[in-house]
Amino acid sequence: MGTLEEVEVSCPYCGEAIEVLIDASEPEQKYIEDCQVCCRPIVFRVAMTPTGAPEVGVYSEDDVI
Ligand SMILES: [Zn+2]
Repeated sequence: MGTLEEVEVSCPYCGEAIEVLIDASEPEQKYIEDCQVCCRPIVFRVAMTPTGAPEVGVYSEDDVI
């Protein structure tokens, strides 16, 4: 059973704050989701901290190797 955590991040393209739902049952994740404001593809990297709170990093496609 997954636990969804709502996390606010800033779009790496337009800088707008957007809210995403993170599935906290996955220890490590990487996925791409289009920005709700500028519709460009944001790369999300999610890592779980020991407290169980997800730590979310956002990158533009160009930043990711
Ligand atoms: Zn954007």
